[in-house]
Amino acid sequence: MVGTSSFVDIPKRLWDQLALYSGIKTNQNWADLTKTQIENLTQQITRCQFEAKGKSTFKEEFVTAGGVDLKEINFKTFESRLHSNLYLIGEVLNIDAVTGGFNFQNAWTGGWIVSESLSSS
Ligand SMILES: Cc1cc2nc3c(=O)[nH]c(=O)nc-3n(C[C@H](O)[C@H](O)[C@H](O)COP(=O)(O)OP(=O)(O)OC[C@H]3O[C@@H](n4cnc5c(N)ncnc54)[C@H](O)[C@@H]3O)c2cc1C
Repeated sequence: MVGTSSFVDIPKRLWDQLALYSGIKTNQNWADLTKTQIENLTQQITRCQFEAKGKSTFKEEFVTAGGVDLKEINFKTFESRLHSNLYLIGEVLNIDAVTGGFNFQNAWTGGWIVSESLSSS
């Protein structure tokens, strides 16, 4: 289906809107698209234009949340509990970016703790 399989790596909400503006239902199968729908979608992906109308709701800008579950990390060293000698810090962790502006601090502190634990091991 179009809604579950975009062939470009973009956020799902954006993909759904591009499909909508192309006259495509997200539950439509790729094989059932008409030539016009495919052409519309191509235009949307390559040439769509947006008009900024102000700010959205505060915190709406955060679309990702790392990916690595915090339970998988030993926060004394930032080493993975699943794979020894693998250290993960910063935004790759599920700290989900709503830290009130302390994302840099989080990344730098994590980096420092990793360097300390590597140099003492
Ligand atoms: C617009 C914006 C404003 C922000 N403002 C603030 C702020 O005011 N205060 C704050 O604390 N935080 C802010 N942040 C968040 C902050 O930038 C991030 O949380 C922080 O940079 C995360 O650090 P990181 O090292 O985890 O990842 P990144 O800084 O994203 O570093 C990852 C690095 O890995 C590289 N990379 C990716 N893939 C590969 C690969 N396959 N091979 C090799 N290298 C690769 C990337 O090029 C990048 O240099 C802001 C973020 C954005 C987008």
